[in-house]
Amino acid sequence: MADLSALDSWRDFPAVQQPTWPDQQKLADAVGELSAAPPLVFAGEADQLKELLAKAARGEAFVLQGGDCAETFEGVTADHIRRNVMTILQMAVVLTYGASLPIVKMGRMAGQFAKPRSSDVEVRDGVELPAYRGDCVNGFEFTAEARIPEPNRMLRAYHASAATLNLVRAFTYGGFADLRRVHEWNKGFTRNPAYARYEKLAAEIDRAVRFMAAAGVDFDALRTVDFYSAHEALVLEYERALTRIDSRTDLPYSTSGHFLWIGERTRQIDGAHVELLSKVRNPIGCKIGPSITPAELIALIDRLNPDGEEGRLSLITRMGADKIREVLPALVEAVKAHGAPVTWICDPMHGNTIVSSTGYKTRRFTTVVDEVKGFFEVHEAAGTIPGGLHVELTGDDVTEVLGGAEELNDEKLKDRYETLVDPRLNHQQALELSFLVAEMLRA
Ligand code: PEP
Ligand code: MN
Repeated sequence: MADLSALDSWRDFPAVQQPTWPDQQKLADAVGELSAAPPLVFAGEADQLKELLAKAARGEAFVLQGGDCAETFEGVTADHIRRNVMTILQMAVVLTYGASLPIVKMGRMAGQFAKPRSSDVEVRDGVELPAYRGDCVNGFEFTAEARIPEPNRMLRAYHASAATLNLVRAFTYGGFADLRRVHEWNKGFTRNPAYARYEKLAAEIDRAVRFMAAAGVDFDALRTVDFYSAHEALVLEYERALTRIDSRTDLPYSTSGHFLWIGERTRQIDGAHVELLSKVRNPIGCKIGPSITPAELIALIDRLNPDGEEGRLSLITRMGADKIREVLPALVEAVKAHGAPVTWICDPMHGNTIVSSTGYKTRRFTTVVDEVKGFFEVHEAAGTIPGGLHVELTGDDVTEVLGGAEELNDEKLKDRYETLVDPRLNHQQALELSFLVAEMLRA
């Protein structure tokens, strides 16, 4: 029988970025309820994903992770979820063609309700309140009451994740994800003159789809897709309550999502997040920013994947376009020399955040593209495998990221700036990025 107490070892390690829950009884009640709630995902599904990530590490597949920076309870609507899934599926079709590889599709969805913050407090007009930490913890509204961490929000996050996952499963197994249908949506995109540059690639994909149909390719196999859920494992009480012993293998798995990652702010080698995730058997990720040293990275790998299991650990690099070519080579070389397998994934968002002249937290599309380019260049030079892409996006027509073929400018940011935390690529920008990355993959 598995040793359950091992799953509480994180309590002996320092835990950063945790809410200060004011009501301990409420916390205990909420955690008790969560611990008895059904799992959101199964261990077997996490194992399947692990195999796919192992393929991506070997260059036999490519990973696409995308979704909101922060999911919100208000955003758990059919329309928002459908548009995000649709955007990821549309990008995946383009990338499949570009890479000539299967694309492993994962949403920053069904669990991405908690956020690390650079400051514990937020000050507006001289008023200081606790920072917003995601709908799993407190409310965004700038009032003392909303900002108090409320344990029952963890239950809401659980139910919101269940509802999201249910809809995602219905979409991806119910005909919505049919390749021909997704391809038709993409044709709508390239009809816009702003994207004329991508017509050639789009026409090639169109020919390939028509060829498959004419050749009698079994479209039943192309009607459904496997779509996995991913989020940052941040709130440890929530994650612990949803960690279960798999009855089939007697091993611990997180059932809050298929893939969990450790954030840049919580990846301390002797920290509670690393400790808890070192114990679960899911495929996991770790964000790494420009300050990490090769020695620290190797120590993290040894801690998170001591057996060198394939597909277990993805390193999600978020260096910034101006640093990636300088910082990543030494890390890649150290990992290569160390020998344990990792899946390298590029997050071109989090190292490239700026403030616009109009005061919005934003990113430039060209900078995002440049970081992806740098990522491919470094791996090409080292002879290692660029395994995937991790982006913040939405299928909605928001105005949060500058640039793209439609040239969103500083003035336009105010039109539909809806994110509560980081700026997301909108539907058009996300698709444009997939065309550009498809070109890089073919190069
Ligand atoms: C995020 O993915 O939203 C995030 C906070 O990333 P990072 O930990 O890389 O800063
Ligand atoms: Mn973010």
